[in-house]
Amino acid sequence: SSSVSRPPLSFDGSVRQIKENMRWLPGGVSSNFRLGIAPTPLVFERGEGPFLFDIDGNRLIDYYLGMGPMILGHSPAGVRDAVKAQADKGILFAGQSAVETEAARRVCEMVPCAERVRFGSSGSEAVQGALRLARAATGRRIILKFEGHYHGWFDNILWSTAPALNAAGPEDAPVPVAGSVGQEAEAGGGIEVMAWNNLARLEARLAKGDVAGVIMEAAMCNAGAIHPGPGYLEGVREACTRTGTILIFDEVITGFRLSPGGAQKRFGVTPDLATFGKAIANGFPVAALAGRADLLDLFATGGVVHGGTYNAQCLSMAATVATLEALTPELFATLETRGTRLMNGIRDALAEAGIKASVAGFPQVFHVAFGLDQPARDYRDLTRINRLAYVAFTTALLKRGVRALERGAWFLSSEHDDAVIDETLAAVAAAARETK
Ligand code: PLP
Repeated sequence: SSSVSRPPLSFDGSVRQIKENMRWLPGGVSSNFRLGIAPTPLVFERGEGPFLFDIDGNRLIDYYLGMGPMILGHSPAGVRDAVKAQADKGILFAGQSAVETEAARRVCEMVPCAERVRFGSSGSEAVQGALRLARAATGRRIILKFEGHYHGWFDNILWSTAPALNAAGPEDAPVPVAGSVGQEAEAGGGIEVMAWNNLARLEARLAKGDVAGVIMEAAMCNAGAIHPGPGYLEGVREACTRTGTILIFDEVITGFRLSPGGAQKRFGVTPDLATFGKAIANGFPVAALAGRADLLDLFATGGVVHGGTYNAQCLSMAATVATLEALTPELFATLETRGTRLMNGIRDALAEAGIKASVAGFPQVFHVAFGLDQPARDYRDLTRINRLAYVAFTTALLKRGVRALERGAWFLSSEHDDAVIDETLAAVAAAARETK
């Protein structure tokens, strides 16, 4: 923290580097979700705890946290040492390893639904495995998903993740909207879309008995940070059981973040299958598909295929074991306390500046929505956010050394201590005054 620069920070070096990158990398970046960030996508030199250091020499307090994974902060010693030690022993065997067994044992001990687990490299692929198991187990085709929920970028599931309302149909009967140019229309043939947090409609639809699986974030965190309504998850669980429908929780964000056992542990509702990624390995490319033994064992004896050259790669497994080991009840208690203080501080600073906003979600991942005076309940509420004003706010924050996502999400790590939160809140107050 000796290298704190004075605001407003300059990002000229990043501007130049992104421009040069464009000769080799489309848009200068490697994911569409890193494009179009104001004032420029950033280029970094290193990360340490709650901080990132960019090529302009700025020290930024980071609330992107790699889009969620870095729950222990940047480059924590425990994970780093475990990966280094594993690198001396081997990287990839195309066979089993002790570190893989240990990672699997820990996932199955921590996650309520996890009787078995398969590892992979990204959340998108873990979701593909879940959809395939649901169809294999039921012999049905239809997958029900919810407006605004994102489950990866593949053709068969990238539907209605952020649909324009004029294309999305009526609220009580939404139509699937493709998320990308070039997406195969037929791949959406097995997809139906509904509004989340509405139990009566879901029950009525499932009663027909032709839905293979229901996939949802048990708390909606990719867009907004929205709690399930009272009794909603329990009702969904019951309706799925009653109708022989496989319930899939996509815990890529919520897993190992909302609690050591994910959203399912926090809310006390156990799905049939769950997908994990992000915080499971603090920045290493690890995903997991976990769930009922009879479903997962279809991979072994039911003719259902799941592959992947890098599945359970040893460095990634070492990172998984080290991360899961660090996710103690004490660490979660600290996250809750500090995150609550941060949420309250942001809420007060915005109110003080006369900005109407809702600060909602969970201390470990919350959402700031300009223009809403109460927490959103589903995707359509989120479309009423004042996006332009919020981007002006995050841009002002960045110039004061705080990096927060333009879509309103704030991720917290165990390394964001009270001093870092105080510094953040001072920047928030100043940025709020400027934005107004
Ligand atoms: N599911 C959810 C809820 C996500 O938030 C994401 C990524 O943001 C994914 C799936 C896809 O994971 P990945 O980006 O690792 O493919």
